[in-house]
Amino acid sequence: MKPAYLGIDFGTSGARAIVIDADRQIQAQTSIKFAASIAAADLAESWRTTLFQLIAQLPAELRSQLQSIAINGTSSTVLICDCQGQPIAPPLLYNDARGATALDQVKAIAPPNHTVVSATSSLAKLLWLAEEREQGTGRREQEEDSRSRNLSTYPAPHFLHQADWLSFLLHGKLGISDYHNALKLGYDVGELRYPGWLQRASIPFQLPIVVAPGTPIAPVQVDLSERFGLPTDCMVCAGTTDSIAAFLASGAASPGEAVTSLGSTLVLKLLSEARVDDSHYGIYSHRLGNLWLVGGASNTGGAVLQQFFTAEELQSLSQQIQPDRPSPFNYYPLPKPGERFPINDPALSPRLEPRPNNPVEFLHGLLESIARIEAEGYQRLQQLGATALTQVYTAGGGAKNAAWTMIRSRHLHVPVLPSAQTEAAYGTALLARKGREEQGTMRKEKM
Ligand code: ADP
Repeated sequence: MKPAYLGIDFGTSGARAIVIDADRQIQAQTSIKFAASIAAADLAESWRTTLFQLIAQLPAELRSQLQSIAINGTSSTVLICDCQGQPIAPPLLYNDARGATALDQVKAIAPPNHTVVSATSSLAKLLWLAEEREQGTGRREQEEDSRSRNLSTYPAPHFLHQADWLSFLLHGKLGISDYHNALKLGYDVGELRYPGWLQRASIPFQLPIVVAPGTPIAPVQVDLSERFGLPTDCMVCAGTTDSIAAFLASGAASPGEAVTSLGSTLVLKLLSEARVDDSHYGIYSHRLGNLWLVGGASNTGGAVLQQFFTAEELQSLSQQIQPDRPSPFNYYPLPKPGERFPINDPALSPRLEPRPNNPVEFLHGLLESIARIEAEGYQRLQQLGATALTQVYTAGGGAKNAAWTMIRSRHLHVPVLPSAQTEAAYGTALLARKGREEQGTMRKEKM
């Protein structure tokens, strides 16, 4: 039997499943778009349905070959559930900023400038949920309370990330997370434990046990293995977040290799031997085994290009650019005032003058200026201690622009390549494959 590995990505607009073989080749993929408007109360149930639909849509033969499965969710999408794993309040999505009202509490317990100090962090959401429950305004709580007011006699609800809960549906072990999802909950990825300040805080939920992404957790539950024709020993591995999964998909693997995402904004991620965290510039590091994934995000990017050009114009005008000739225009393209990285200036005004009459020259100036900001970004990461840049992979809408790629390599002084794969589900399938292979090695070592 040929082994196969499944990665499932729950992204912002839909979910996708990709199956790879032992040689990392894609064997099947399927996706489902989320409905435009799903009531908050129905979100978790819609995720459950989508998860099972995705698996059902895979060819039966491949399902019978699956050795492992891993799931990524969107970072800081969270929910609370009871001890059976039933959600007891609607999930909070990655961009839900209701945690802003709990920000003072976050600041009171977390070290200054910690990554959790943000209205959308998992910790801010956790404290908001706690507040809601305490005030008795949580939707389900009112029903529960009609039975008993004394919550303290019940085991505390579990606090989970989206990927944790979806993985639980497959393996049945409640309360497990990975250290990519848990970073914005406050988990200390250097020490691999919850920090003292979080342990001392009064939190009315059970926090998940945190393991390395890709760690084999347990085989898929028996009823699911029967329902979908999965091998009974198909292992469910700990997951990750969508952006780390996309990084894993790129092909970057050695220190010095980076991925630039040229989407609406410009996001840089550099694989480094040293960890770099600098809240002034919004730079933080995810752990990747023994390495660190150092990231920074600028407000410049494709959103500004879209203000001036249609997708067709971007394509046709770019073909008329002479990329080996530097543009004389030095812009700072921003959709609105304010920048954090590579320069921190909350009041920085967009600089888009002088504007030449020729649209090709204007676009050349914009692409050249964004490339300059990208190069400054990587310089900033290296200046703060990250490993020297050796190669840049590219993802996002701008990756297909050949003229831009040439302009960027002129500024970056390293090879610039397209990402091998850009789908997060592919990166998560790699994680599932690695988890299963390492489990095999461990077994052999024990024998
Ligand atoms: P996001 O997921 O952040 O919305 P995408 O990765 O889908 O972004 O990329 C969309 C961006 O790509 C748009 O802002 C657009 O300006 C840019 N884009 C699309 N086509 C091109 C092109 N040919 N050259 C440069 N940029 C492009």
